[in-house]
Amino acid sequence: MIATIGILGGGQLGRMLTLEAKRMGYRVVVLEPSTNSPTGQIADEQIVAAYDDLRFIGELGARTDLVTFEFENIPLVAIEALEADRRLVRPSSGVLRITQERLLEKTFVRECGIETVDFATVRDAAELTAAIARIGLPGVIKTTMGGYDGKGQWPVHTAAQAHDALAAANGRALIYEQFAPFDKELSIICARNAIGEVITFPVAENQHDRGVLATTIVPARICAEVAERVRESARTIAAGLDIVGAFAIEFFLTGERLVVNEIAPRVHNTGHYSIDATTISQYEAHVRAICDLPLVAPRMLVPAVVMVNILGGGNGDELGGVDDLLRDPDVALHLYGKAHAALRRKMGHFTVLGADADDALRRAERGRTQLHWIDNRARSRAAGLRS
Ligand code: AMP
Repeated sequence: MIATIGILGGGQLGRMLTLEAKRMGYRVVVLEPSTNSPTGQIADEQIVAAYDDLRFIGELGARTDLVTFEFENIPLVAIEALEADRRLVRPSSGVLRITQERLLEKTFVRECGIETVDFATVRDAAELTAAIARIGLPGVIKTTMGGYDGKGQWPVHTAAQAHDALAAANGRALIYEQFAPFDKELSIICARNAIGEVITFPVAENQHDRGVLATTIVPARICAEVAERVRESARTIAAGLDIVGAFAIEFFLTGERLVVNEIAPRVHNTGHYSIDATTISQYEAHVRAICDLPLVAPRMLVPAVVMVNILGGGNGDELGGVDDLLRDPDVALHLYGKAHAALRRKMGHFTVLGADADDALRRAERGRTQLHWIDNRARSRAAGLRS
């Protein structure tokens, strides 16, 4: 029987996962290097240790019945060590190995019979020149491992920019990707349990700003046939990976052409909307999947929902405008308990439930303009001077 869940990673995804696991009666132990993490604030216990400190990884395994992870940049050795200790880890090291390395991941997707953008491995200037000659410009150079939120990525329009990016990457393994001139970015959350039951969430439409997710609109404004292709790809990938847990797939849609951008083997930012807008959330789906509980198809509770990420401005840590935002009766605010609103750091999100996408988008836009950061350090300094 599973009573205690271990989570590797202490960010907001782990926090929302923990909230759901706690609601369902589980104990949660998180392993995360920084103290007072978003997940650590909620979990029953936090082990403060590095992800590659195998002694503490072993400790996490010993204190829990099952280990999962909330981000994919966990060293593979950590998962393999737990498995070697005969601990249950979901998803498995096999899933993580493929999905944490862009070349393996794209090759796997193609082997599933699903399209990706054209890509090539780049280890030196000669390979970069050959990749550009074959694939063309513009393109995107990405580190094969470790990137997120646009980090470790260089959009390039000229060969000179591409070679500058190669130099900036400082010897890290790279991939050169064709730039997809997409009409829409789409994603889907999917969950699969150990007996092979698979559920898919409604398809989401995403808008990014400089590599970071800004807005998610659900259901995506696409035709039923494209939505079915997205769901079908998700089911194929779920079975091909033999994954146990919830995960996300991101797509580019250009005209009729649907290609996979990437797979995230975990709950995902584009699935936050499900906390407020579907019968079960992606977090509950993950808990159900990893704890051998039945998976049931999630249904939308409203016609449309929009999720807006609240990013740090680098100009103050106190969020202003919350009173105005919360006057809308169909808004749910989620804040992650992070002390410092560093520039473009994910501090929280809000969802707007709507009668249709236009209605939800209009109110989401109003909410976005209502929120702002206040430099409370200046205020506390002023208060200090007065006292
Ligand atoms: P990724 O980390 O691969 O999800 O990339 C983050 C964001 O950068 C994507 O959601 C896109 O908005 C943009 N992007 C990444 N790769 C490409 C590409 N090959 N073509 C066009 N846009 C891209």
